[in-house]
Amino acid sequence: MGIKEKILDYQVTHGVFDNSTFAGTEGIAKRAIAEGFDALSEKQKAVLEPYLSITCSGITDPGGHHNDCAAVLEGESLLDAYHRCEDPEYLICDSCDDEEGYYAHQWDRISQE
Ligand SMILES: [Zn+2]
Repeated sequence: MGIKEKILDYQVTHGVFDNSTFAGTEGIAKRAIAEGFDALSEKQKAVLEPYLSITCSGITDPGGHHNDCAAVLEGESLLDAYHRCEDPEYLICDSCDDEEGYYAHQWDRISQE
């Protein structure tokens, strides 16, 4: 199974397609998982493309400032993000994840002062 199929498999099992605008999306994803992404028609691939390239949700620092991260998660980094983030609707990149860990540490310190 290639990386695209693994991502789609994760998305199907975690209900990512439940709210898709086009009702057939999940069916196409399942076909890609069973037969391989490359077996799909160009139109079917186009339906799935937005799910294979997701912009980082970014994070908000303790001062309430959102970092507007524009990192795009694709391939391995997207699959990593799915495994790392608890909410499949809220994915962040490696760098934001590091930063969030740093803020969490700061919050702990502030609350103990
Ligand atoms: Zn980010």
